[in-house]
Amino acid sequence: MQRILLVLTIVLLGAAGSAPTPAPGPLRIVGGDATGGCIAGAERLPSSGEGFQTIHLNHSSFWGAPPVIERVKLLGAQAHKAGLADFYVEDISNPRGGPMPGGHAAHQVGLDADIGLDPRPKAALSAMERETIEVASVVRGDQRGVDPARWTPAAMALLRLAAGLPEVDRILVNPAIKKQLCQEVTGDRSWLRLIRPWYGHRAHMHISFKCPAGQSECVPMLPPPPGDGCDATLQWWFDQLDHPAKPETPAHPPKPRVLPAACKAIMAGG
Ligand SMILES: [Zn+2]
Repeated sequence: MQRILLVLTIVLLGAAGSAPTPAPGPLRIVGGDATGGCIAGAERLPSSGEGFQTIHLNHSSFWGAPPVIERVKLLGAQAHKAGLADFYVEDISNPRGGPMPGGHAAHQVGLDADIGLDPRPKAALSAMERETIEVASVVRGDQRGVDPARWTPAAMALLRLAAGLPEVDRILVNPAIKKQLCQEVTGDRSWLRLIRPWYGHRAHMHISFKCPAGQSECVPMLPPPPGDGCDATLQWWFDQLDHPAKPETPAHPPKPRVLPAACKAIMAGG
């Protein structure tokens, strides 16, 4: 009982810690992952739906641009139809975007979604389990390959479905997952271009969607380079495990990130 009360308190405090309501629409996206930003007219992903469940409600936020919310639901429906297990969803954006707790650089404009990769079947979670569950990594402890106990065709199928969603800009995964796809995917490999190696991301994929049409204040990222990315640039990540590159010493201390000026009204407005 005490633990239930504790979780309930955390949930309520977590909800109170950020702007609890979205800025009214129409949809307006200002900035991007590289600049920081905000969103008006965001919509909230339901806490569960066909093929998915949200987790860590106390420190995650599930607001996004309406087309992004639709695409997460679409991925759930497609995964369900393909016979895949439910996936967990963690972090989309705050109701008005802006910086997320925990120093997430992305997830500021409602165009990013974190989707768990553990392909095993899942029971519906209790309220407490939703807060405390740890999403299983599909990568081995030494980070040189996927964990054969967790990496199954279902994990690859979920990644392929995600890459096929409309308007995907890129999907970040651990380099070991990218390497596995490079080895395993046959036939059409064009979707591998969207799957990019990045630090962490052993348990979830980070899907970034493109700026929606007509959002002139939304700052797009540089497109991924051409090709499937299964080349020397991928090997670099594994070389880092043996010989980490020296961090470059910045000439000046990094400037604190300032949100675009137009975000002031969106973040503060009623
Ligand atoms: Zn993410």
